[in-house]
Amino acid sequence: MLTLGFARRFTEYQRPNLLLHDPERLCRLLTVRERPVQIVVAGKAHPKDAAGKWLVRKWIQLVYEHPEGRAHVVFLEDDGIALAQALVCGVDAWINTPRRPWEACGTSGMKVLVNGGLNVSVLDGWWNEAYEPAVGWAVGDRESHGAAAHEPSPASDAADAEHLYHLLETEVVPAFYERDALGLPHAWVARVRASMARLVPRFSTNRMLREYVERLYHPGKDRFARRSAYDRALVRELQAWQHDLAGAWQAVRIGSVAFSPHEGEQVCAAQVFLGTIPPDAVRVQLFADGTEPGGSPVVVELARGQAIPDADGGWLYRGTAPDGRAPERYTLRVVPYHPDALVPLEADQILWQR
Ligand SMILES: *Cc1c(COP(=O)(O)O)cnc(C)c1O
Repeated sequence: MLTLGFARRFTEYQRPNLLLHDPERLCRLLTVRERPVQIVVAGKAHPKDAAGKWLVRKWIQLVYEHPEGRAHVVFLEDDGIALAQALVCGVDAWINTPRRPWEACGTSGMKVLVNGGLNVSVLDGWWNEAYEPAVGWAVGDRESHGAAAHEPSPASDAADAEHLYHLLETEVVPAFYERDALGLPHAWVARVRASMARLVPRFSTNRMLREYVERLYHPGKDRFARRSAYDRALVRELQAWQHDLAGAWQAVRIGSVAFSPHEGEQVCAAQVFLGTIPPDAVRVQLFADGTEPGGSPVVVELARGQAIPDADGGWLYRGTAPDGRAPERYTLRVVPYHPDALVPLEADQILWQR
């Protein structure tokens, strides 16, 4: 029997009762004679979350009020790691229907991947990044309804429930039950293969831990060793650097900033006045937003040229803005710099061109 499952914190924005939107339709879906479906639900509500507890009661009620569906739905009490482990490896498909955009992550759906389960989920949290049609099913659209997590949005809840039923009836159940002569559900297996092959390497604890080690823990260990060496000489140097920056930053200012075209690129020449701050203690950069929404910003380091005579720590900086975009899309900025410091964590000054 096709086994759907989910385990949730029973709280309003998680919408654990979205499947109960139309109990008659749900019971019909569960009890088609040749294509039966069963649902395993687990979860807890916070003792002070009355709405959450009411949502648990709605699932229990369904089981009592619809005798024909009773054999097809089970609510498991006391959700915990052991129960979750059995659930994520026992279900064929995992359902997650939070209200967008309030799902932080949705790790339980990732746990299903390695067990060969498929995801049927709202495009939020990890599924918003992972979903493509070959690997599972998406409930609803990418719109966000309701400004607050607890702000109900009846119209979009109804639309998402309708879409979820429709997906289950017309895609999920058929894909599971359409079998060849040997009893193999090819469309289903193809999705399982795509889901495991494409998503397991990305959404895995191995990948996460390796990245923590390579990007953070090892560099952190090396940094600690450098700072501890020679009686912590580097620590004292960094403290003096921080102290000097903090005391003198107010005097930093940006003078003229001019662009001139040169061989299809924009050459920037800028005056920066650093007061008593040594020029090696800062970087002067051109900054522009990424070209796509959410894309990485463009940061161009300018090179320091001559000192400006008789000026208060004044220097000329030059650099080339690379990608042909208009000069007014760039903003000059001055930020602290030390080869061993973490900026902005350890020095958060920043001066933007006005
Ligand atoms: C995975 C897991 C969670 C978190 O699940 P989400 O989908 O991220 O909300 C909570 N409790 C248990 C017992 C789990 O195994």
